[in-house]
Amino acid sequence: MLNLVLFGPPGAGKGTQAEFLIDTFDLIHLSTGELLRSEIAAGTELGKKANEFMAKGNLVPDEVVIEMIKGKLATNPDTKGFIFDGFPRTVNQAKALDKLLNENGTPISAMLCLEVEKEELIKRLLTRGQISGRVDDQNQKIIENRIQVYRNKTEPIIEYYHPQNKHHTIDGMGSIEEIAERVKKVVEKL
Ligand code: ADP
Repeated sequence: MLNLVLFGPPGAGKGTQAEFLIDTFDLIHLSTGELLRSEIAAGTELGKKANEFMAKGNLVPDEVVIEMIKGKLATNPDTKGFIFDGFPRTVNQAKALDKLLNENGTPISAMLCLEVEKEELIKRLLTRGQISGRVDDQNQKIIENRIQVYRNKTEPIIEYYHPQNKHHTIDGMGSIEEIAERVKKVVEKL
């Protein structure tokens, strides 16, 4: 099984590159951000609770997202693999994911870390906010908070995967096609 963690700050292009990876390698895309937004759209209790955190650009509590991922892993036992996008976002989540995957004997194959400069991230997110209407993409303060949360809480995950030789950095600046080509090269070597 090919289990990939697509990693990087908000606006790094994880969702965009995930789409291309799904087609090329026939994987299931699990984006916690998308799953949470569907809960909000459906007006569920989970969605209401999550929205309080998301609207401010803060992280939703670990136990909420871990439960969501657990459910998705259980309902897709026959897949060739998963792309985790926006998850794990804390070291706690990374440990929980390893525990879930190890129970199935299908560990993480690699963590692909997209590297993009801060000015470019802000530019991309503000553009996305105009197109998608996503509230958390429309306010520069909220965007800066998300980038800060990424630095403080999410980036330490690199220290978790690095000693396992699973951490791969990919230059996330350039055209979508150029980046897709870089990502593909890394995955083909795994
Ligand atoms: P982006 O990568 O652009 O921030 P996402 O769609 O991945 O967009 O996430 C949007 C928001 O959803 C985050 O700011 C956060 O509030 C929440 N979220 C998504 N995934 C997680 C997660 N794994 N843990 C906690 N909160 C999450």
